[in-house]
Amino acid sequence: MLLSRRDVIKLFSAGPMLLGALSARASTAPKLVIVGGGIGGAAMAKYMRILNSSIQITLVEPNPSYIFCPGSNEVLNDSVPIQDLTVTYDTLRQRYDIKILQDRATTIDYSRKRLHTAQGEKLPYDWLVVSTGPDFVCEAVDGYNPQLAQGDFPHAWKAGPQTLKLKKLYQNMPAGGTVVISAPPMPYRCPPAPYERASFMAEWLKIHNPTAKILILDSKSNFTLQPHYEAFWREHFNYGTPQAMIEWVGSHAGGTVQTLDAANRTVITSAGERIKADVINIIPPERASAFARNNDLNLGQAWVPIHPYDFRSQKDPAVFVIGDTSEASPMVKTGYMASNQAKWVAQIIHAEITGKDPGYPLWTNNCVAMAGEDFGMTITATFRFHKGRIELQQTLQSPLQDNPQLHALRASVARNWQRTFRRDIFE
Ligand SMILES: Cc1cc2nc3c(=O)[nH]c(=O)nc-3n(C[C@H](O)[C@H](O)[C@H](O)COP(=O)(O)OP(=O)(O)OC[C@H]3O[C@@H](n4cnc5c(N)ncnc54)[C@H](O)[C@@H]3O)c2cc1C
Repeated sequence: MLLSRRDVIKLFSAGPMLLGALSARASTAPKLVIVGGGIGGAAMAKYMRILNSSIQITLVEPNPSYIFCPGSNEVLNDSVPIQDLTVTYDTLRQRYDIKILQDRATTIDYSRKRLHTAQGEKLPYDWLVVSTGPDFVCEAVDGYNPQLAQGDFPHAWKAGPQTLKLKKLYQNMPAGGTVVISAPPMPYRCPPAPYERASFMAEWLKIHNPTAKILILDSKSNFTLQPHYEAFWREHFNYGTPQAMIEWVGSHAGGTVQTLDAANRTVITSAGERIKADVINIIPPERASAFARNNDLNLGQAWVPIHPYDFRSQKDPAVFVIGDTSEASPMVKTGYMASNQAKWVAQIIHAEITGKDPGYPLWTNNCVAMAGEDFGMTITATFRFHKGRIELQQTLQSPLQDNPQLHALRASVARNWQRTFRRDIFE
């Protein structure tokens, strides 16, 4: 869901006129409050402003900056510094006149239409948009918990200090050491990313610790782009042979990690096997965020049910829920999707203000995944609203038999996409 070039040009060519409109905005102006300044929330704020100069927009986010997950697996093999993935809210504040409240949202007062925050603010809203990302259910693996995740067993499924810790741990393993990656059940954010992570680690280990091993223990029996990853692993890491650097065990073969024995750096699988490793990276199952669950937006379900046309929550029509925390299948949980959902919800709200018909959405997800620095793949999908639900309209994958030049080209497209995507959301 993209805004037209005309919309964007209109905003920027408005120049002083727009600034005048902004500063003159009445206190009676309609109010949009957004919870969560990640990909979905920031895109919501920026694109709402592009469409509408009169609305008051407040973005509530506890952190002073945001670190993008797309690209964070490349931090692990030293090809991207984490600083490149880190953005502040300055441009949203200054160029788009978004009020940034550095605070944690706590409670929605549905009847008074007010959002309460940890620091005691009570923000009135006409529309509330929630994009709080997922919660990680560490406890689903017996013996694992959030404290261990912040210590020596980082999941690193939210880019930040855990990403750097994981990098340090596996890069400092003894020669011939083992990394275990436990891949979660669906649905979770960015389905190909555990396998991309294994591939990038293997690229680094092949040079610096060539007898090391990466064992992927999976809670699924297959995974996104599996033939592509396996072909790459066969070519580069002896996959499927006794000398393999990467091994994968699916749930059908007992690969689900059920228990972590942290003291002995050991996991126990559904096959009853005890596996000792030097580094254990458990990527936990996910569910709706604590904020969504505490406010019963999930209506007792794992994820937040939404109305599939406009992403209004089923709990309350003035509250929209987008991004990873919403139940919008068959859409996958990606940043690309979250940003397109945001752009669509901005059009819905703008239409409500102007009394115009927003029309019908066509959402796209353009997933650019990597297996190595010179090996990229793409999956593109389009979705439409049809017969009261979200329907997958078309999907297209890059072919398994791509020649090396095309793989390298797709990898460079992926890197360019990461850069332009960050700018699309935050600049
Ligand atoms: C390793 C990895 C690689 C990935 N690669 C890609 C990729 O290549 N392409 C792609 O499209 N996607 C990718 N993703 C997925 C993408 O990062 C997520 O789908 C996307 O971030 C979802 O956006 P969101 O707004 O739902 O959540 P987030 O971006 O996680 O933002 C949620 C925000 O809400 C805030 N928040 C939470 N609770 C509160 C509260 N109570 N009050 C206020 N704020 C709150 C958080 O602090 C956070 O800033 C990747 C993910 C991972 C883990």
